[in-house]
Amino acid sequence: YNALTENVVFKSHNAFSRKASIPPGALQSIARLNADRKELAGTLDAKRHAQSTIGDHIKASLGDIEAKKAALEDAKFLKMEIAHLEEELEAVEERLLTLALAVPNDTHPASPIGPEDAAVTLSTHGPDPIPASSARDHVTIARSLRLFDFEAGATVTGSSWYYLTNEAALLEMALTSYAMSVAVAHGFTPVTTPDVISLDLAKRCGFSPRDPLSGSPASQMYHLTQRPEAAQEGSYPELVLAGTAEIPLAGMFANKVYLSEELPIKVAGLGKAFRAEAGASGADTRGLYRVHQFTKLELFAVTAEGRSEEMMEELKEIQTRIFEGLGLTFRILDMPTEELGASAYRKYDMEAWMPGRGSWGEISSTSNCTDYQSRRLHIRYREESPEDAKASTASTRKKPLPFAHTLNGTAAAVPRLIVALLENGVRFDEVGNIVGLNLPKALQPFWVGSVSKRDI
Ligand code: AMP
Repeated sequence: YNALTENVVFKSHNAFSRKASIPPGALQSIARLNADRKELAGTLDAKRHAQSTIGDHIKASLGDIEAKKAALEDAKFLKMEIAHLEEELEAVEERLLTLALAVPNDTHPASPIGPEDAAVTLSTHGPDPIPASSARDHVTIARSLRLFDFEAGATVTGSSWYYLTNEAALLEMALTSYAMSVAVAHGFTPVTTPDVISLDLAKRCGFSPRDPLSGSPASQMYHLTQRPEAAQEGSYPELVLAGTAEIPLAGMFANKVYLSEELPIKVAGLGKAFRAEAGASGADTRGLYRVHQFTKLELFAVTAEGRSEEMMEELKEIQTRIFEGLGLTFRILDMPTEELGASAYRKYDMEAWMPGRGSWGEISSTSNCTDYQSRRLHIRYREESPEDAKASTASTRKKPLPFAHTLNGTAAAVPRLIVALLENGVRFDEVGNIVGLNLPKALQPFWVGSVSKRDI
């Protein structure tokens, strides 16, 4: 908590350029609560020490019944005091964490300052953009080729819930396997993630249950109703559906101390992302572009302190390979301060050209969260070897362990990629009827057969 608090106060200066709304007086409250926390922890330590010696007092009382009685009374009183102090400390720590989570990460000096349209294009890749045309609208193409079923999705769940059907269902599998194969070739360990996570973990990763930008009181997360008997037992923490595999992937490393030679750790997690998308409207909610559930392969890395910027570039290279392999026209943007959310120090978005929509659409997002998540999740590392650690002097041993840096980036967010592939790959006959779809050769090894003889 010390490290978290000092870091929070230090980093608060840049909240302004990110338009982060830090509650008034939060920084003063953080400092005050941290002082309270230190005092309570000190008192608690002293009481626990006294408790550990009480047995000796009882023994020392020998046959003196009065002294023994007094020592037993003391023991009873100490037990009550300790329970009370523990409760108080827990409450202070909880308030401290809530306030600390309202303060965003530091910002990379090169990040453009301002809102979304201040983004800087770093590079553009792939073939020249196909001219925009409403004939290439992915909804029209998918209906014509019977690639999704939104009606059944609406019956089963509600609007913006869908089934992928026929080749689109195979495309989902091929896309994630293809992206996973590239990630594994670059040294990433394959993982599948739990998609139900604790709300506390989501908060520690920088995800607020409320939408901080729109200020919408509606939660962007799906909250799970606990089984009544579990609630009674108090055995479950508050649970939500993961909005991104980044959260369960970060949680894999919580409360761990690594040796510096074990870093970087690189994992590629396949999971479902669930988004309430409260307040979303307009063209984005048509078809597959912005939906409530989607399959996503996420890259996640844990590095030593000074190594996250080079990892950010490595993630960018891998994503570039994935999207170039799919033949997409895409650009890479350095995202401005107001788009960084709570946790990112720097963010690169990739946008593919979608001629049916007539615009660039985000297909991937990569963030260097530096030590924002690791401070809140206690992910640290040891710079010295175990032998050195043994040999180190008491004073060097007291040096706090450095916090690792964490990064995440989308390798494949499936329905968005399908939108891009449909709008760019659709084939028409001479009178403009949709006759098929060109799919990238890179997907061939991952295609699990054909459900029809159609020319896709
Ligand atoms: P984010 O974690 O919000 O940066 O999103 C990662 C990627 O997931 C984005 O670049 C999109 O490609 C995709 N994505 C985000 N939200 C949705 C959504 N509601 N529906 C479909 N795809 C989405």
